[in-house]
Amino acid sequence: MNDKTLNKLHILADSAKYDVSCSSSGSNRPNDGKGLGNAAPMGICHSFSEDGRCISLLKVLLTNVCIYDCAYCINRRSNDIRRATLKVTELVELTINFYRRNYIEGLFLSSGVIRNPDYTMEALLRVAKSLRQEHRFGGYIHLKAIPGASPGLVHEAGLYADRMSVNIEIPSENNLKLLAPEKNFPSVYHPMNQIKESIIDHKEARRKFRKAPHFVPAGQSTQLIIGATSDNDKQILTLASGFYNDQHLKRVYYSGFIPVNASDERLPMLKQAPLLREHRLYQADWLMRFYEFQCNEIVNDEHPQLDTDIDPKLAYALRHPYLFPIDLNTADYEMILRVPGIGVRSAKLIVHNRRFGHITLAHLKKMRVALNRAKFFITTKELPSQLAGLSPSLIRRKLHVPEQVQQQYVQLSLF
Ligand code: SF4
Repeated sequence: MNDKTLNKLHILADSAKYDVSCSSSGSNRPNDGKGLGNAAPMGICHSFSEDGRCISLLKVLLTNVCIYDCAYCINRRSNDIRRATLKVTELVELTINFYRRNYIEGLFLSSGVIRNPDYTMEALLRVAKSLRQEHRFGGYIHLKAIPGASPGLVHEAGLYADRMSVNIEIPSENNLKLLAPEKNFPSVYHPMNQIKESIIDHKEARRKFRKAPHFVPAGQSTQLIIGATSDNDKQILTLASGFYNDQHLKRVYYSGFIPVNASDERLPMLKQAPLLREHRLYQADWLMRFYEFQCNEIVNDEHPQLDTDIDPKLAYALRHPYLFPIDLNTADYEMILRVPGIGVRSAKLIVHNRRFGHITLAHLKKMRVALNRAKFFITTKELPSQLAGLSPSLIRRKLHVPEQVQQQYVQLSLF
């Protein structure tokens, strides 16, 4: 790799680090020369393939030149930053060379919008097409669908990509208008719906004809920025729940707002990204995807914000004390899943093993149930109800959780 390409790669990998719609990014643990390993906030990220393997990807932008001026973005056109654009051939060569050296197992390619959405989407498509057709590249490719690009280009890109994502970024349309006046919800929903329909059609075609082409086999994802606007957790999780149910998204990623453009008056003055809130949103998201929770059971008009002191499952149990304790030897699987401290694997083991005899505390310990929390919400033969006479606030105290303040998370004002 020559110095010019290396310099471009440095700029474009650094610009790509704010996009978290893959599973790992942002760690910064430089090697001090004495140890092993070097976690940089840019360059390589991780994602999960269709079959669940964790894979490392070269995460880079095609260009950080952008015709748009989104308030929250480091690459917006009004910022005075170093700009670079990789040629399609340079990007293809980089990917192939890194792959051959075993540095990466695939490519995560995003881009600023250069000239117009179609021009940008076509360049991304050419990278994927060249990798697949000219180089017979079988590694993983995650491509961004550029909002506003023509359906034909998005569809063709989907034939080469394993995963595609269209980032909605801001959870409500009025705030999106305020922070990214050149964008709107329809330009995001349109490609999202198109990709969903094509995934369904191609799956159906492959059932009938074994040689029908794949289309985005690892599904699609999106990213939401948290804390840049006054949108509450209820709005965010309702939107995410719609993405899972209606657009069949594989993942919604939540990215705590990083104040990269501190002087923009449309943005809140945050000293640091709201990471705890981001973490609670991921936990709530997990409950919707794997624990059969409905969004309105986690957040609703009465509780529009997640409690940052406790995980959302414990918060749900404390808000619904009349549902507990449950007898693990007779309760439904769905109710067992709702017990704080019991995970999906343990819930399945409990249901499976109770067919052969009573579940005991020794069994629960072996199943790695977190008994310090679960004991307040379950009964077994040897564990009589610990809930009797205990109020939710007493349980909070016993779990060393501070008393809930009514407005637990105060969103900073935009102005
Ligand atoms: S379109 Fe994307 S790259 Fe361009 S300013 Fe907006 S967020 Fe940044």
